[in-house]
Amino acid sequence: MSVDRTSIERMFDLDETGLIEEIARLERVKSAAAAGQARVTAVLADRRRSAEAAAGVPRVKQCRGLAGEVGLARRDSPARGGRHLGFATALVFEMPHTLAALECGALSEWRATLIVRESACLSVEDRRTLDAEMCADVSGLEGKGDRRVTADAKAIAYRLDPQAVVDRAAKAEAERTVTIRPAPDTMAYVSILLPVAKGVGVYAALKRAADTTFDSRSRGQVMADTAFERITGQSAEVADPVAVEMVITDETLLGGDDTAAVVSGYGPIPASVARGLVDRAVTDERSRATLRRLYRHPKSGQLVAMESRSRFFPKGLAKFIELRDQTCRTPYCDAPIRHRDHAQPHHRGGATSAENGLGECERCNYAKESPGWEVSAGTDETGLHAAEFVTPTGHHYRSTAPPLPGPIVIQVSDVEVRIGIALAEYEAA
Ligand SMILES: [Zn+2]
Repeated sequence: MSVDRTSIERMFDLDETGLIEEIARLERVKSAAAAGQARVTAVLADRRRSAEAAAGVPRVKQCRGLAGEVGLARRDSPARGGRHLGFATALVFEMPHTLAALECGALSEWRATLIVRESACLSVEDRRTLDAEMCADVSGLEGKGDRRVTADAKAIAYRLDPQAVVDRAAKAEAERTVTIRPAPDTMAYVSILLPVAKGVGVYAALKRAADTTFDSRSRGQVMADTAFERITGQSAEVADPVAVEMVITDETLLGGDDTAAVVSGYGPIPASVARGLVDRAVTDERSRATLRRLYRHPKSGQLVAMESRSRFFPKGLAKFIELRDQTCRTPYCDAPIRHRDHAQPHHRGGATSAENGLGECERCNYAKESPGWEVSAGTDETGLHAAEFVTPTGHHYRSTAPPLPGPIVIQVSDVEVRIGIALAEYEAA
């Protein structure tokens, strides 16, 4: 982004007091803009719902793709779009004081979200009471951080309707899950979302292991190793991940260059780490590795196409789309791929092909089936595989598949064939 000289110069005219005031003023502008966005979003939701109700769409199916539309308009994932939508509707129609506090800058968008979230289990009437108690007098919000705001809202909700809070806890339990995301320096965070008692139990068990282990490792290292060993059943010292799949250039694999490899579901890892993983998979008898050749487009660097006529995506094609797309292809959605499906649906003549195939998360796959959505996909003149999403309001959004790391690319996974055979075939080619 280019620096706007004039506005920078204007900042230089301010003294430090003035600069602090400018920071505070811009923060108020952000809050006011968030309040404005909430109003517009709530009006849109209301209008869509009425129109669909008038057209006879059943209530549960109304506003089905709207979360995705809000997400796209805000350059956010559909999951966040859904949260923005719920937040806006609650704030505008049920929580006028919180909305006003956001509008005047007494609350940031995030703190307003926390209040809405804590009140979500309440009846509309109780929610209005909480809204007034928390935000009718904005001086009460002065100096309160995220935790205080959450704790205050939680306390009021519990006082108003203890049963609702308990029921909500039971519902939250159903959302327990495990997720992974990359951390800096080729590390990864693996998070387990558990009910509090079980979460504390996991932590206590690991802590106990640290308390009773005396070697050169730190407590943190012992806890991390113990978690790995108990979950995978393998020793932390020797084991590699059970089934790593990665994409690596031929040059990198053979040591000729150091282009990063890409591990599915994780992202880029340094060449030396990738080579180490392959070496160990080849030499370690307990592990097997296979190679499969993949070719990239000379201009765009993406995986090239495959064709098939069957209705369901064949296994090879599904794998191909997964490798090409890496994450859900909806713009701004980074969710893992769950469905490999037709961009243009099969019942409307869409081909079962890599061209017309898209990797998508569950939510996005259902959203694009909603009325008014049009999705198309294909390779453009530069060789990029592009998907175009047209929403019911006629807005266009585009996403392209990410490039592969090198001219000839090899996918490595640890099943089926031995690595030596595939490598020889590759070298002969
Ligand atoms: Zn998605």
